[in-house]
Amino acid sequence: MNNLSDIGVIKEILGRHGFTFSKSLGQNFLINPSVCPRMAELSGAGKGVGVIEVGPGIGVLTNELCKLSDKVVAVELDKRLLPVLDETLKEYDNIKIINADVLELDLGKLIAQEFDSMDVVVCANLPYYITSPVIMKLLESKLPIKAITVMVQKEAAQRMCAKVGSRESGAVTVAVNYYAKPSMLFGVSAGSFMPAPKVDSAVMRLDVLSQPPIEADEKKFFSVVKAAFSQRRKTVANSLSSGLGIEKSEVIAMIENLGIPTNARAEKLSMQNFADIANCLEKG
Ligand code: SAM
Repeated sequence: MNNLSDIGVIKEILGRHGFTFSKSLGQNFLINPSVCPRMAELSGAGKGVGVIEVGPGIGVLTNELCKLSDKVVAVELDKRLLPVLDETLKEYDNIKIINADVLELDLGKLIAQEFDSMDVVVCANLPYYITSPVIMKLLESKLPIKAITVMVQKEAAQRMCAKVGSRESGAVTVAVNYYAKPSMLFGVSAGSFMPAPKVDSAVMRLDVLSQPPIEADEKKFFSVVKAAFSQRRKTVANSLSSGLGIEKSEVIAMIENLGIPTNARAEKLSMQNFADIANCLEKG
């Protein structure tokens, strides 16, 4: 079997298929041989486990996932890559390629049809332009997925894996922590890809929680988080007042009552603080 992270092999295969990289599809293919085996190993792929991969490219990570798991379903939008994948994955009978946009696909149906009663994990080197929408779709759809191991832009991984309540946290940190336990796995330099992107990447894993870590009405919780972070430089009292259309004096009285400092910014609040605010608003 060819080494699919060898730059010479990649060029030969892609040249023979007349393939040219599409920047708009986020096509940066891995050429660092140490990344995919490590990523597949850490993703939870294994016997009795089904894997969903987003964007297999020429199949470098897919190969490792097929070696470890009972079944891999890879979703690739670029149909020019289908004949390439037919060739590079021909030795496996546990792979199914679906030519679709992952953001349009009914993943619940896919899991029910393809994975029966298997545990399911996601493992992918995500195209940068849809990192957050893909992750949020996977989390918000409440799919029966155990873990999501993805390579994303380093800054995006740092933001999602930041501690809630720390300076590095944002609305996406709180959202991710509502659904999962995030952990940073390892960094990957820009030079590990062809063509090399301008930024470094990192691999992170999200272990999906069976239930949220706090109790609150989900819609209210997220409207509070969104409003709180809408004006990062302002105090949470100000941003909640303008974001939710509530008198500032009322917001101050509420957060004071909850033991939250009135001059706190959103990045200082804990998951429980956001939940408390949502529950107060819910009560009216
Ligand atoms: N897995 C390969 C690797 O690591 O070398 C390729 C990763 S590349 C960063 C992203 C891949 O996602 C490309 O193959 C691209 O065509 C595919 N892609 C882009 N947008 C997509 C979408 N909306 N749905 C599914 N695949 C997509």
